[in-house]
Amino acid sequence: MKNYILAALLVGAAVNLKAQQEISYEVSFPNAVHHEAEISMTIPNVPTNAPLRVRFARSSPGRYATHEFGKNAYRLKAFDANGKALALKQPAGDVFEIAKPSAKVKITYTLFGNWIDGTYAGFDEAHAHMNIPAVFAFPVGMDKRARTVKFNYTGKTDWKVATQLKPLGNGVYHAKDFQYFMDSPIEISAYQAASFEVKNSDGKIQTIHLMAHSDDDEMSVFNYANMLKKVVDEQKAIFGELPNFDFGHYYFLHCVHPSYAGDGMEHRNSTVIVQRTPKIGGNESNLLGTFSHEFFHAWNVERLRPKTLEPFNFTHSNVSDELWFAEGFTQYYGNLTLKRAGFRTLESITRTLNGLVNAVSNSPGAKNFSPVQASRYAVFADAGVAVDQTNQQNIFTSYYTYGAAVALALDLRLRSDFNLSLDDYMKALWKTYGKPEIAYTIPDLEKTLATLTKNPTFATKFFKEFIYSTNKEDYASLLLKAGLVLRKEKAGKAFSGINRWYENEGKLTLPATLVGTPAYAAGLDINDVILKVDGVDIKNAKDFDAALEKHQPGETIDVTFSRKGVERTTKLTLIENPTLELLPIENTGATLTPAMKTFRDKWLESAVK
Ligand SMILES: [Zn+2]
Repeated sequence: MKNYILAALLVGAAVNLKAQQEISYEVSFPNAVHHEAEISMTIPNVPTNAPLRVRFARSSPGRYATHEFGKNAYRLKAFDANGKALALKQPAGDVFEIAKPSAKVKITYTLFGNWIDGTYAGFDEAHAHMNIPAVFAFPVGMDKRARTVKFNYTGKTDWKVATQLKPLGNGVYHAKDFQYFMDSPIEISAYQAASFEVKNSDGKIQTIHLMAHSDDDEMSVFNYANMLKKVVDEQKAIFGELPNFDFGHYYFLHCVHPSYAGDGMEHRNSTVIVQRTPKIGGNESNLLGTFSHEFFHAWNVERLRPKTLEPFNFTHSNVSDELWFAEGFTQYYGNLTLKRAGFRTLESITRTLNGLVNAVSNSPGAKNFSPVQASRYAVFADAGVAVDQTNQQNIFTSYYTYGAAVALALDLRLRSDFNLSLDDYMKALWKTYGKPEIAYTIPDLEKTLATLTKNPTFATKFFKEFIYSTNKEDYASLLLKAGLVLRKEKAGKAFSGINRWYENEGKLTLPATLVGTPAYAAGLDINDVILKVDGVDIKNAKDFDAALEKHQPGETIDVTFSRKGVERTTKLTLIENPTLELLPIENTGATLTPAMKTFRDKWLESAVK
């Protein structure tokens, strides 16, 4: 009994200590019309024997390049408990230091934000839209401390807060620590909500909320939520269960307006989706792709999480070898789910798959760099900001596309050779790493494939060839098993490698040329202006195509072009057009066999039982 009382006292003391450590923010929007928010941060129990550093983030979960979020914060001031100003130094653009802090420090600043997407912040008369790393300064070395945030929006009677953060009442929200806070975006607006419940395999109810900030009527939002439920059900069938969302809730924070920047950004119990259509109603089919992709992330990346992203570093970019899986497999399933849920036709999913196969078969990035290398380049490519030219078109194929093509190959291989599917693989990974939240490495992914197939040789070979190097699966023979014919779209036609142009004022200007194409080999480069082919004047792309029509693959043409105002000539040897097309076999005049149909249906039809 005595012990019990002592233990109870200790627990009480621990709770108190936690409250005393809590960092509290307040946010108000007195100048929302000009996109400003006023923010304060109060830090109790500051160690007074060392300088206190406060900084802004340079990266954000789900984004892989760096972003200087500190650039939009100004009028930063520091005060002690009595409101007396404390001296501040600024050792870096986004870092502030108080050499002699008091035990309680209050920081205040103004933040500008006028970019509505999943990465930045936007304040205006319609809403306050916040990605946390873009908004909130934080003290260095206090990551374990809980956070509360309170919003003041007097005068905006129809505004409500939408967030995965735990509500404490009176407009106050709570995060257990720094990482959790940074992962919890917030939308405050007059949004409309529609929710649905999903019973999980353990019997627990999970509630999924659509918070739609758009110009739609209630019925459109309700209908759209019903469509989302079908997507959620299909994805649940893949993994066998929904994740256990914190507090039993998951939120789609949806902002719709043509003036916004389009984006989808996954988080642990929510996703921000910003789309550039006038309304949801009438555009559902176009909007669903992002929802399907982002919800799949609730398993793949939020819980089934690469070790390289744990813990997420907010002061520099987070390089990861695994984005071909985290993003690519998510991309693959985002599309596949829509087909299974009945929101895509066979023709439409076939076009999507053809895009994947074309990208990995014909882009120099995928020919010369592995999926792992493509993943590592994300720190420069993923909304990275630069003013100088890069060679991205020759060294990078998006890990979304590349990874989705790997997923396609593995899915078809598992179905074809093992009587298994990628669904089985995702389920196995979920059980081993996702649900228990053990961060994985690429060798872990390989090990699970070996266990699943009971064939370690296959697993090792697959990873060696298709993940660590640039080999590609035999897509044509695999796709044919599902009755899909992969073939050259323009067989026998000559190809120069130039299929994008800048046409203006009767001038045909080249974009960057691609490694491995005749144009690149002929020495043609970005900004060259094509003047003549075989001595005939070229004024536009039509003229160029007409000149090409007269030739066969293997023939050489004379190209006259202008570079920096100087006329030059080169010889360009044409090849056969390598562009691929993918068609249902029944559309080619051949027969869909019963075996093909069974294979196809098991793959593309609903998995919900
Ligand atoms: Zn994604």
